Amino acid sequence: MGDIRIYCPKCHWEPDGGAYWQCSYCDTVWNTFDTAARCPGCGFQYKYTQCIEHKGGCTGESLHLDWYHVTDDVFNEKHHTEKQLK
Ligand SMILES: [Zn+2]
Ligand SMILES: [Zn+2]
Repeated sequence: MGDIRIYCPKCHWEPDGGAYWQCSYCDTVWNTFDTAARCPGCGFQYKYTQCIEHKGGCTGESLHLDWYHVTDDVFNEKHHTEKQLK
């Protein structure tokens, strides 16, 4: 089993733990990955998560679950080797 990594499925931007998401119902600002896209203010469960463009992401919006990626160990080793060769 690999680890779970969180990044935008469209541009691969990785959230850095900041509170960049604002609820459109109660204006709470929080880190949506702390709560699996559930607003801590009003409890609304978001299905989609917006990428954060001003932090280096894109303007896309993706299914929250699509942000979670299980890393493949074989791929990681290959990736690691390629990095070392450079
Ligand atoms: Zn809310
Ligand atoms: Zn993105």
